[in-house]
Amino acid sequence: MPYLVRDRLFIGNINDAAEILQSESTEFTFILSLLSSASITFFTEWRSSLSITTKEIRKVYVGGSESASKSEDDASGKSQKLLYALEYAGKDLKLVRMGVPLRDMESENLLDYLDVCLDFIDESRKEGSVLVHCFAGVSRSAAIITAYLMRTEQLSQEDALESLRQSCEFVCPNDGFLDQLKMFEEMGFKIDHASPIYKRFQLKVLGDLYNRGERIDSSKFGADPGLPTAAISSEVSASTDGAKPMPAFRCKKCRRLVALEENIVGHEPGEGETCFEWKKRKNNNSLNRYDEHECSSIFVEPLQWMKTVEEGALEGKLSCAHCDARLGYFNWSGIQCSCGSWITPAFQLHKSRVDISTI
Ligand SMILES: [Zn+2]
Ligand SMILES: [Zn+2]
Repeated sequence: MPYLVRDRLFIGNINDAAEILQSESTEFTFILSLLSSASITFFTEWRSSLSITTKEIRKVYVGGSESASKSEDDASGKSQKLLYALEYAGKDLKLVRMGVPLRDMESENLLDYLDVCLDFIDESRKEGSVLVHCFAGVSRSAAIITAYLMRTEQLSQEDALESLRQSCEFVCPNDGFLDQLKMFEEMGFKIDHASPIYKRFQLKVLGDLYNRGERIDSSKFGADPGLPTAAISSEVSASTDGAKPMPAFRCKKCRRLVALEENIVGHEPGEGETCFEWKKRKNNNSLNRYDEHECSSIFVEPLQWMKTVEEGALEGKLSCAHCDARLGYFNWSGIQCSCGSWITPAFQLHKSRVDISTI
């Protein structure tokens, strides 16, 4: 049986969802399915005796493109990742089900699904009762509901999870999800793509893909600011008032634009997630000496002019796309900044090789 978390909000497992999808009852009107596949066939493959009718409303892909016909695995060359599928389902198609493809893995990107999931829960509760379920009702559904409680009740990650445990004591989001929920809290309960927290996370996701042996092609890189069309991304022009001068980094030798402020992946000087133990101790004893270690590099997201990165090596030089001057270095396993912080993966531009100006 699903557990009641808040008025009209329930958490459950795949059994609970299957029962609701088969039932005549009108107690539930909305289902949010968090399974490794968004398709209803996940249910029938799990239990072949099930038969559930559905009617597609829409499919939405990452990046905003919408489709009413493409199937989930119709990748047609370029990988188009499904964000969610919305459909009518169950007896007389009286339920609305949103299927979100999410695996219960620490490296799974939960953050990018939060907005659509939390909005779906919000809208559903205005009109009826919603069941949020995953396979076991322990990790994925708990992570989404924790985020929901965080956002709607302005709770910390710990308090929201504790509150959810009052309703359902065995919930336990995986550690990767817990980290991401903490980032969600630090970003003020919204997904802020410009925030250094999000940029570091995005880079970590890319690093995980690389470590799993996936080919990282330039479509996953940031736009080249040196190309005329890419100079100001829509995201930036929408979030700033346009007239403001924006810091930009140019090759010292030929003045080609190599990075914009929005490309920078910031870090706390002297604080690394993977800082060596001795380094940590040293820093704790001399907190006031941080400013002596000014960073000699800036770290950026991988950009489309970085041809050496695209070749797939673990590490290598970063050279100017125009004059070939050496600007820095990249290493998927990380580089230690002069301040002591480890940045992993790292795409480093030496401050001595670039000029800061404004555009
Ligand atoms: Zn630094
Ligand atoms: Zn140059």
